[in-house]
Amino acid sequence: MSTNQAKLQYLAGLISSCQKCPLFKAATHPVPGHGNPNADVVLVGEAPGYFEDQQGLPFVGNSGKLLNKLLDSIRLSRDEVFVANIIKHRPPNNRSPLPSEILSCAPYLKAQLSVIKPKYIITLGRFALNYFFPADSISRVHGQVKNIDQIGQKLTIIPVYHPSAGLRNGSMLKALQQDFLSIGKLLGKI
Ligand code: SF4
Repeated sequence: MSTNQAKLQYLAGLISSCQKCPLFKAATHPVPGHGNPNADVVLVGEAPGYFEDQQGLPFVGNSGKLLNKLLDSIRLSRDEVFVANIIKHRPPNNRSPLPSEILSCAPYLKAQLSVIKPKYIITLGRFALNYFFPADSISRVHGQVKNIDQIGQKLTIIPVYHPSAGLRNGSMLKALQQDFLSIGKLLGKI
């Protein structure tokens, strides 16, 4: 087992016994995150939904299927990347996470990023964007390459719409597809 894998498993253990906010009470499984512990690319979403809560894995429902297609379009597989959410236990009825819940849970994502040290972070949706850039609006900055100093290193962040928005709205799906193509070019994948 690689060092990073062991560190991420340790964090997953902390998450599975966490009671820092009430969300653990109604959840079936914690969803700490999944993928390559040495990934160059980390994708960050909002919170687990129904299927994620059932399986303990991120992005395994319809949004996950669309995410896989978007990754395929730039020749990236789920095995190459690491996928996580800001919130590790499912909010009841998929409601938006509360600011207090984000505050409680955010240190876990920060710790995961400190272990993985990715070159690129793709944020999915407004909550993930606002985790890094609280004042930005996803409709204004999606697809832009943004830099930030965090976790003791320079991070390159590309915000895109959440895949669930792409499932609901044709123009957002188009924007997602275009933004992923730009990401593919940035990564030298296409
Ligand atoms: S959602 Fe996050 S902060 Fe809340 S109990 Fe789960 S791991 Fe802890």
